[in-house]
Amino acid sequence: MIMKESGRKQGALSPCAACKLLRRRCAQDCVFAPYFPADEPQKFASVHKVFGASNVNKMLQELPEHQRSDAVSSMVYEANARVRDPVYGCVGAISSLQQQIDSLQAQLALAQAEVVHLRMRQVSPSSSSSHNLPANSMDHMVDHHHQANIGGSLWSC
Ligand SMILES: [Zn+2]
Repeated sequence: MIMKESGRKQGALSPCAACKLLRRRCAQDCVFAPYFPADEPQKFASVHKVFGASNVNKMLQELPEHQRSDAVSSMVYEANARVRDPVYGCVGAISSLQQQIDSLQAQLALAQAEVVHLRMRQVSPSSSSSHNLPANSMDHMVDHHHQANIGGSLWSC
């Protein structure tokens, strides 16, 4: 929505990034123009390389206008991921993040179990000596946290 008009800012004679790359005339109702402004040529270059201009065109035509902007963002993101990682594309980032979620959920379950454990100790102080946690249990959690952060660089693009 934000970039809806920016493709036309430089006047009707200047083609959008898509038409410029395809060397065709940019019509008044060009389907690419609202989403591929001339000042961001890299966006169309990526989706053209990975999906092909006619597929992008087809996809945009089939979608209602209010969904096109999101579809373009998604295609640009997926195309850039595919260029960076030709084998896995964005699936590499998705599975890495899924692993981080699994690892963090395991940590959360562990932490919640410890909270319950500590609360029970508070409720019955008489039995506290028999419920001591292992001294290194917090250290383990810190280690897990570091591992979970390794995949973070995948998101910088
Ligand atoms: Zn155009």
